[in-house]
Amino acid sequence: MGDPFLRAHYVAPRVFNISGKLTPVSLKDQMIRARFFVDRTVESGEIASAPDRGLLVIGGGACGITAAIRAAQLGIAATVLERSPRLFGLQAGCATRWLDPSQYDWPLDHWSQGHFPWAGAPMPLYFLSDWANRLAHLWRLHLHVASAAFGRLLRVHVGAYLAGPAPLYQPPGAATVDVKYVTAAGTQIDTFGAVLVTTGFGTENTKVGSTFRGFAFWETDPFASTNLGLPSHATPRVLISGAGDGALQDFLRICTGQNSARDVFDACGVPPTIAAALKDIERRSACSYHWGEHAGHDHALHMELENEHEAQVALALSDPNVWSNLGTLLAGRPELKLVHTCEHLTPFYALNRFLVLLIARYIDQTTGTSVIERQTAVTAVSTASRSHSCALNASQCHGEDHDVELSDWSYCADKSAGSPKSHEQFNVVIVRHGINVGVPAFAALTPIAQPRQVLPYYLL
Ligand SMILES: Cc1cc2nc3c(=O)[nH]c(=O)nc-3n(C[C@H](O)[C@H](O)[C@H](O)COP(=O)(O)OP(=O)(O)OC[C@H]3O[C@@H](n4cnc5c(N)ncnc54)[C@H](O)[C@@H]3O)c2cc1C
Repeated sequence: MGDPFLRAHYVAPRVFNISGKLTPVSLKDQMIRARFFVDRTVESGEIASAPDRGLLVIGGGACGITAAIRAAQLGIAATVLERSPRLFGLQAGCATRWLDPSQYDWPLDHWSQGHFPWAGAPMPLYFLSDWANRLAHLWRLHLHVASAAFGRLLRVHVGAYLAGPAPLYQPPGAATVDVKYVTAAGTQIDTFGAVLVTTGFGTENTKVGSTFRGFAFWETDPFASTNLGLPSHATPRVLISGAGDGALQDFLRICTGQNSARDVFDACGVPPTIAAALKDIERRSACSYHWGEHAGHDHALHMELENEHEAQVALALSDPNVWSNLGTLLAGRPELKLVHTCEHLTPFYALNRFLVLLIARYIDQTTGTSVIERQTAVTAVSTASRSHSCALNASQCHGEDHDVELSDWSYCADKSAGSPKSHEQFNVVIVRHGINVGVPAFAALTPIAQPRQVLPYYLL
């Protein structure tokens, strides 16, 4: 097996993984990986049109369904096992995330296309800018059409999973794998050419301690509602903990009331010279990021990125147009603080870093107070009112006063906090502390060879 994509994702004989500890994680990247995988397994002969050389996909998200439809398009039988009762579950359950497949490609020129693919061959699931749950609905329609077109070549089972601790058996010398799995029809054993694991990236870490949990990224939240969904007499005091893309997206939504980073960018009227000036550093850092493994490897490149973005932010703020647009955009912003553990933000996407720094510096200069507190960790969150007790329920905690302990944290690669330094009260607490990688679909899988990837923007 010489193909570089297949080698990178090989985890066991005839088993490949496109989930777990992978970056970048966006839907668009997952669709590209899924198509890459199918096209290359067909090309290398791992899967074929013979009935016992088809593809088994574990996981019915956008990645798994893209792979299955692509296989059927190429005349190869595909079977999907989705453990939960619904497909595209993360997006289907979220009515408050606006998704845009190209905005985070900024500062590249095509960033404002707003649909995917915008060039090359169509993908099995077309991706428009829209609310997450509406996209999930659109993709179910795509799947419905594909199922009607491909008949028995495309079989999708919900509430289905691999059977027992050792569900795979590879007959000696065979170019196939036998898999035991459970569907509504019962337990069965089928033979496949390859198995593709697309079980997602794990669970998001939104808890502090054992009782407080904030809204998850893919949960329908109240942040776009009037007064952040709090009664009109209440004054929101918002804390966001984290500096990755999820935290920065929420910072932008809550400060500006806009649905997407693209809307914020457009409303600011940032001159095009800024994107041109950041292209080089973003490209350089993407190359370095590819070969790192942990925060310590990334620190220097984040510092370099942050400094170059800060320089462009200063230039943007010297433009009277941008200054006046920011004044209008931020007129209704609530009281808000973002805390994070290092001297730099940690987004993967340049647009989030640039816009958050732009807004933070504007607020610094107009109010004399900083909305970003660096080298700080949230170490405890507890209720500050007798009438409320936290029980890992984000909706019940929303709007209630919480006492938050903030502690020193000097450097992103540190493993634990320093001394507590202050206690503050907030009634909206958002925790974006990354993703805990889940248990793999099979025990003892080989780790993915190259989890950090530089992917193409689309496939021809
Ligand atoms: C916190 C967070 C923020 C994100 N933000 C964005 C964003 O802003 N924009 C964006 O484009 N993308 C974002 N992503 C990525 C996005 O969620 C994924 O790209 C997308 O969901 C498609 O991935 P998938 O199909 O690989 O996995 P998922 O959507 O996670 O689907 C995996 C499926 O596998 C099923 N499954 C799990 N285990 C098993 C098993 N053992 N057997 C059978 N089925 C199983 C699950 O039930 C699920 O339906 C984010 C992800 C996270 C976690």
